[in-house]
Amino acid sequence: MAKANQNYLQLPGNYLFSTIAQKVREYQESHPGTEVIRLGIGDVTQPIAPEIIRALHSAVDEMGQADTFRGYAPDLGYDFLRETIAEYDFRSRGCDISADEIFISDGAKCDCSNIQEIFSTDNTIAVCDPVYPVYVDSNVMAGRTGPYDAAAGCYRDVVYMPCTADNGFAPELPKPSDGKAPDLIYLCFPNNPTGAVMTKDRLQEWVDYANRHGSIILYDAAYEAFISEDKVPHSIYECEGARGCAIEFRSFSKTAGFTGLRLGFTVIPKDLEADGVRLHPLWARRHGTKYNGAPYIIQRAGQAAYSERGRQQIRDQIAYYMRNAKCILEGLRGAGYEVYGGVNAPYIWLRTPDDMTSWAFFDSLLEKANVVGTPGSGFGPAGEHFFRLTAFGTIENTLRAIDRIRQSM
Ligand code: PLP
Repeated sequence: MAKANQNYLQLPGNYLFSTIAQKVREYQESHPGTEVIRLGIGDVTQPIAPEIIRALHSAVDEMGQADTFRGYAPDLGYDFLRETIAEYDFRSRGCDISADEIFISDGAKCDCSNIQEIFSTDNTIAVCDPVYPVYVDSNVMAGRTGPYDAAAGCYRDVVYMPCTADNGFAPELPKPSDGKAPDLIYLCFPNNPTGAVMTKDRLQEWVDYANRHGSIILYDAAYEAFISEDKVPHSIYECEGARGCAIEFRSFSKTAGFTGLRLGFTVIPKDLEADGVRLHPLWARRHGTKYNGAPYIIQRAGQAAYSERGRQQIRDQIAYYMRNAKCILEGLRGAGYEVYGGVNAPYIWLRTPDDMTSWAFFDSLLEKANVVGTPGSGFGPAGEHFFRLTAFGTIENTLRAIDRIRQSM
């Protein structure tokens, strides 16, 4: 008899964003004609930059000519894109990363959820709390987390690293229990959902810790392009020794508006080992077996994002979103809210007023201001009494939303 993967039964009920969508749907059904502004889901609103569209058109034309048509892409990515990434994202920042250490994919979500497959199921994982849910859920599916404690909102075998206002939403180094540090440490900076960052000095402490204990850091830098302050590293490989302990994930989704086009990449240094086994060939083998490569036209679009014009157009888009972030930050701070993030990240993390639960604040904001955000508790127990707003709306909607929130108080 076929048996289902019982690990899936450990996943808590609804995916956070499905619950939000359902609540908004119900609200709209009972309040027809009410216009709801969504500053909840982290999807972008600006169209793809003209230089990237130009590259897409040209690549599409190539596909229609016998002499330039392309079939299956190389599973690890086209050299033209891997070389471009290595140059602009890494070597130009002094990071020793070569093109053949870059694995092109259709986005960071797949990579940061699939990466756990190349590690033994008896590894312990450590995650920030609150956290982007994909890291934990993918480990639940693999059977690495133990049972879920619904009352505590935690999995038994996961090490949760609280990110609070007191520690600037950057976790403390986990204290090894029985002399054993977590094997896999997920870090995401700039952070979703808190918008927090880690300085280079602080990140260096994590790299030293991982090297000391034989841990691997899984570093999600999906929001790297939003960094505005010099003290914040764009890549973990800016830290000394990171080649010996870190894997990095990047995405074109928020950087260049590719949420619908789909493109990302993972960096695995060739000499990176876990327990004496090199990880680069394992991930290459996995890609070769389970993935047939991101489409040629999308990889050409990705390359165009690094051209001089492409970079300028993308910078302008990011500046647009960060102006939104500033409006939210200043508007809410001026209204007396305690707000964080929004300087090096497109996320604003606010403490709910009057100690309201995150979901009570969600309901109240929807009801009184017709604005949708994301309850912090959906990202983990330490997110309770917090709320996330995103800067990815249009400037018009963002300004109206802040106005409504201020008036609803
Ligand atoms: N990592 C983080 C922290 C994210 O917030 C997101 C998307 O919201 C992703 C990864 C997924 O990126 P992609 O669209 O490339 O799959």
